[in-house]
Amino acid sequence: MADQIVGSTASTIWDRVPPIGLTGYPGLRIGVLALQGSFLEHSLMLRRLGVDVVEVRTPDQLKGINGLILPGGESTTISTLIGLHGFRDPILEVADAGMPIWGTCAGMILLARSLTQEPPVPLRLINIDVSRNAFGRQLASFEAPITWSVFGAPPFPGIFIRAPSITDVDPEVEILASILDEIPVAARQMNIVVSSFHPELTTDDRFHRYFIDMVKEA
Ligand code: GLN
Repeated sequence: MADQIVGSTASTIWDRVPPIGLTGYPGLRIGVLALQGSFLEHSLMLRRLGVDVVEVRTPDQLKGINGLILPGGESTTISTLIGLHGFRDPILEVADAGMPIWGTCAGMILLARSLTQEPPVPLRLINIDVSRNAFGRQLASFEAPITWSVFGAPPFPGIFIRAPSITDVDPEVEILASILDEIPVAARQMNIVVSSFHPELTTDDRFHRYFIDMVKEA
């Protein structure tokens, strides 16, 4: 049976993105935690920008990267898999060593200091409190233009899917963007950055370029 399995000849979405390493950022490699959720979309966006990407499935892969993205998805599932695959301490170690880490949506939930309801037990890497599903259930998902203190016009197309909200931030946390004038939706504390929306589901690469700059500077 096994000898009948040959490499797939089907064309895939990967055929449409540039090959690894052709352009962009020599020596820079970004990992996307690929346990569950929108890791493929992050990979594609980074590859389009010419970044060498590693889909991280084992903790030892954290050694070869300069930055890490925790994608959106289901935070309870990702948290369980982080525990099962032994990722918790290795992620805390690379964060402590200054590696830039970006969490989008479920990824933001996982990076928070505390959640209104635990489990999941977050990694507590950024001093924000987060409420899961704060804008309602799946049907209450929405899009909203986001005004960026960092990038200016035009507004960023914010895609919110069963999104969490940031309910409290400590003074050392910089709020990058808010919606409805007061709800923070993107924030940063040193090497940790979070967004409650999904830039990887848009064609707007400004947030990814912002993260690439963080990684270059680290
Ligand atoms: N509500 C989800 C959770 O709690 C996150 C949704 C998302 O990542 N789009 O994990």
